[in-house]
Amino acid sequence: MRIAPGFRTDVGRGRPENEDSILVDDAHGLYAVADGMGGHRAGEVASATAVETLQSAFLEGRPIDRAIEEANAAVFAKAAGDAALRGMGTTLTAVAVDGGTAVLGHVGDSRAYLLRDGAVTQVTDDHSLVEQLVREGRLSPEEAQNHPQRAIITRALGVDAEVQVDTYRVDLRPGDRLVICSDGLTNMLSDDTIGATLRRHADPQQAADTLVDMANQAGGDDNITVVILDALADGAAGDGPAAAAASRPGETTGEWRIDDPVAEPDAAPAPVPEPEPSGAAPADGPGRSLRGMARWALPVVAVIGIAVGAVGWYARRTYYVGFSADRVTLFKGVPGGLLGWNPTIDRRTDLAADELTPADRADLESGHRFASRSEANRFIARLEADRAALAATTTTTLEAPPPPPEGTVPPGVTETSR
Ligand code: MG
Repeated sequence: MRIAPGFRTDVGRGRPENEDSILVDDAHGLYAVADGMGGHRAGEVASATAVETLQSAFLEGRPIDRAIEEANAAVFAKAAGDAALRGMGTTLTAVAVDGGTAVLGHVGDSRAYLLRDGAVTQVTDDHSLVEQLVREGRLSPEEAQNHPQRAIITRALGVDAEVQVDTYRVDLRPGDRLVICSDGLTNMLSDDTIGATLRRHADPQQAADTLVDMANQAGGDDNITVVILDALADGAAGDGPAAAAASRPGETTGEWRIDDPVAEPDAAPAPVPEPEPSGAAPADGPGRSLRGMARWALPVVAVIGIAVGAVGWYARRTYYVGFSADRVTLFKGVPGGLLGWNPTIDRRTDLAADELTPADRADLESGHRFASRSEANRFIARLEADRAALAATTTTTLEAPPPPPEGTVPPGVTETSR
């Protein structure tokens, strides 16, 4: 088996810069798409760091999931070491082809599709809030397509020191076409349109170019990246799989998905404790984070309205419990601060965000306020008491929000100044 690739990345029409990164390494059979997010140029740094680290780790012999874990660590370290990059993150969907086998590693809401025998199937599961709601039966796939919160992702590289990587294996057949793409494609074009376009263009480069052009024609709201990998029998002429595929439209196989994500709790069919939607953190970039921020922005605005007459008094005597560097933290002050009175850290516990129930975590994301320190400490004691019991059962996967600068403001709030 050999691979004929086609690829293109494009800034689109709605963003000033292209924060997607692309990797096409034919010599080593490694291909990837990363969709970065963060203020200023941080998203670009995140996605570029991810694919560079992925490639070097892979070339040093690491399997793809380990290579992606290293990419996560590299993005995380860079974000932690530079205030201008704090909070950045990236998706990463990578394919390593070895002979007739493609192994995929995946984190985030970029996607991989397989076109086989004329039918297109999404290989990867999106790590996104709306996808989770669809799995829970709370949204239909149609509602998800245009949901205002569809850009909120629940897993990304660079957000935490460790990341859970989904892996998939596809045993390639001649004529298969694998597609990796960023959400700038899939938010603009339906799966049906993508499928029809893939079938229409036998040449992989022409297919990639056409998809990008169509996404731009549909609005081009975001950066658009597409990598197309055509699996050809050794010695085949290389005119792509689409013509052969189109001769058997609608036929699905489903046998390709041999290796489902092994330990992916949010894909489990059994009743697993699932996070509430409000617990999702926008590990996200400019356009994305604005939508995510609405969740906490309203309470902050309300607090400001209430306190306007007694700002200093109020801001200095109240407490709230929230997160700082992913740890449950007691703050003195008001979430978001009030007219110059920023909250200060009173005490940081060793209780991690992911040791909480989804409800508690959602509660703390915007800051749970208390009238006194002792009340707040009683609340923290209750969370600590719950931890042991929860440790055995909690399998949620929502990422913690980016750690805020210590001693300043709670998650999300720092985003407003970017
Ligand atoms: Mg994007």
